[in-house]
Amino acid sequence: MLDKGCIYLVAVNGYLLGYETGVLEFTQETLVDVEIEASYRIGLISNADYRVVIVKGDEPPAGVEKDRLCGLRTILSTITNEQQYTLLASASQIVTWHLSFKFCPRCATSLDAHSNELAKICGSCGHHQYPRISPCIIVLVKKGDRCLLAHGSKFAPGRYSTLAGFIEAGESAENAVVREVKEEVGIAVGNIQYCFSQSWPFPHSFMLGYMADYVEGDITPDGEEILDADWFSADNLPTLPPKFTIARRLIDRFLTEAGHDLVEQSSPFFTTE
Ligand SMILES: [Zn+2]
Repeated sequence: MLDKGCIYLVAVNGYLLGYETGVLEFTQETLVDVEIEASYRIGLISNADYRVVIVKGDEPPAGVEKDRLCGLRTILSTITNEQQYTLLASASQIVTWHLSFKFCPRCATSLDAHSNELAKICGSCGHHQYPRISPCIIVLVKKGDRCLLAHGSKFAPGRYSTLAGFIEAGESAENAVVREVKEEVGIAVGNIQYCFSQSWPFPHSFMLGYMADYVEGDITPDGEEILDADWFSADNLPTLPPKFTIARRLIDRFLTEAGHDLVEQSSPFFTTE
């Protein structure tokens, strides 16, 4: 099942293996004693053929220091370029998909790996099952030299971010921006401008990033998803999301366009827009 010359990322119990220093990479030789449940090709990165394998059982390969293992957010915080981000986001979402879709949604037969596509196929009814992607909008709302940032119910204390939500069936992304902002904080927005996108592997979102202008209304957090929200200027920013997130890219773009220096500058990331 494993090929010589490929680089393998490994998932155990649904989690990619990595330390605070980054994701762990394996070869066919270093996985020789491991029982593999499935293997998927991710793609070529710097001419290396990357794949992800899902291990049977809950034991990591020999040599892995279990007490050093950490979560995907920590691993993502170590990366320095968009290719590395794509590698980890892809691997994580493929693992989630593999573990979440084992049976045909039409006829409940066990699904098999497709021979030449990143897909599974039902041997009984022929249904193709592709990795699930859930489109979302994420939006930074501007009002003069201030932007709207909100504290979500699942956020760490003091952390604020841009607003986000899933696009509903049949809805355009722009209409989702208007609806989500109205639902979450009670204000109307216009002049909705697309900026950039990011795959977000928690667990399978695809974020479309926008800027929008405030139109009318008073901020009224919904009290469920959003506990607090306010207008922030460059000189009174709260604790922001980490640099690798699309939310932070939107905030940084707002600060740059308003002529302010970026806060907490770190290594360049996502330089290719
Ligand atoms: Zn079927």
